[in-house]
Amino acid sequence: MDLSYSEEYEEFRREVQAFLKGYWPLQGDEAKLSHREQATLFRERAIAQGYAARAIPKRYGGSEREADVLKARIIGEEFGKAHAPGDIRSIGASMLVPTLLEHGQEWQKERFIAPTIRGEMVWCQGYSEPGAGSDLASLQTKAELDGDEWVINGHKVWTTGANIADYMFCLCRTEPEADKHGGISYLLIDMKSEGVQVSLLRQMTGTADFCEVFLNSVRIPAENIIGKRGEGWNVSRSTLKHERNMIGSAEASRATFRSLLKFAKGVQLNGRPALEDPVIRQRFAQIEGYVTAHLYSGYRQLTLAARGQEPGLAAMLNKLTSTNIGHMLAKLAFDLVGDQALESPSGDEVMNLKPRGGQAWVSQYMWSLGIAIAGGTANIQRNVIAERGLGLPRDRAVQRSN
Ligand SMILES: Cc1cc2nc3c(=O)[nH]c(=O)nc-3n(C[C@H](O)[C@H](O)[C@H](O)COP(=O)(O)OP(=O)(O)OC[C@H]3O[C@@H](n4cnc5c(N)ncnc54)[C@H](O)[C@@H]3O)c2cc1C
Repeated sequence: MDLSYSEEYEEFRREVQAFLKGYWPLQGDEAKLSHREQATLFRERAIAQGYAARAIPKRYGGSEREADVLKARIIGEEFGKAHAPGDIRSIGASMLVPTLLEHGQEWQKERFIAPTIRGEMVWCQGYSEPGAGSDLASLQTKAELDGDEWVINGHKVWTTGANIADYMFCLCRTEPEADKHGGISYLLIDMKSEGVQVSLLRQMTGTADFCEVFLNSVRIPAENIIGKRGEGWNVSRSTLKHERNMIGSAEASRATFRSLLKFAKGVQLNGRPALEDPVIRQRFAQIEGYVTAHLYSGYRQLTLAARGQEPGLAAMLNKLTSTNIGHMLAKLAFDLVGDQALESPSGDEVMNLKPRGGQAWVSQYMWSLGIAIAGGTANIQRNVIAERGLGLPRDRAVQRSN
């Protein structure tokens, strides 16, 4: 097995490196812009150069390059090393934009895609409700057509970033007579509309990353619908597929593993360096096995994609594998931190991204529990793998979102 890149691709890598050297971090007056402005400016240049938004047509603000998974991979690697803000991994760019490309009308693509991929337009995902999570099709938020407007009433919850979002893509029940899945539509709500009330939810990490959103007779234009009326379920499946892809990266697992190993080198346990403890060593070795398997599964998927083939069952495993690894790493970190874990950082420290030493790992531990739930819980992932991947009989108890 030869995992090296050909000379043509190494040449491409040098071009990307030269671009980054010239443009990131920004210099002079540009470095005085806000973080968001700097990111947008850099992204515009990266798009113009063909290093971002490669799959997006030029008429929607993308760079429209021929699909080349190896080039995309090289760009990802080099941008990652330089901490450059390339394609944003935001809810809007990663989930809504692909959904719009697949199901949106022409005016919707023209209006929403370009500002979203540059990071100027921020989105949140209004799917979950107090009584609708794994069983998403139970959602009760209603939208009724009144002339040329939808009037929306309902309650969404766990809405990440609703407090900073400009728009929400939202699932609403529009056909009360239809069956559970058939009566849903996919609507775009301007968060500044009258009747939208956002309330922050503080988590056990101390931060408040998500919100409850109350929709009280919110009026939006009738044309703000993606796909046909009552076909929102189908559209939402496209968004969910992209959400899981966003969560399951093997490189991110490897980076967290390396970072924990570095942390462990400075920790004393039972009077000796933690890494000399046989049980700790064994736990690291076991996790490294999972990380390596995940990484090689990623290479396998990359090879299939480079050949234009579907990744199949392997891709279904990505989210579950990476959240399992994340949890094992965070649990090990938690044990290494010891009593210090009891004084978890204050919300302000975490929000200002200044957690101290081991306390960052305490937050990581708590976060690992949440990320195993977001985008479809671990048990739901297992059901999907069992039913779609292994062909086992369907779970008859519920009708799920996935
Ligand atoms: C960090 C984070 C960010 C989130 N961001 C968003 C967001 O931006 N927008 C949004 O709409 N939602 C968001 N969510 C909500 C998320 O999608 C839901 O929490 C998730 O779908 C689970 O729903 P639930 O919380 O109602 O749990 P439930 O569905 O009630 O599940 C409870 C438990 O029962 C298990 N379970 C349920 N059904 C089955 C079954 N059939 N078989 C086996 N086990 C089952 C689950 O695995 C889980 O352990 C976010 C959640 C988290 C944690």
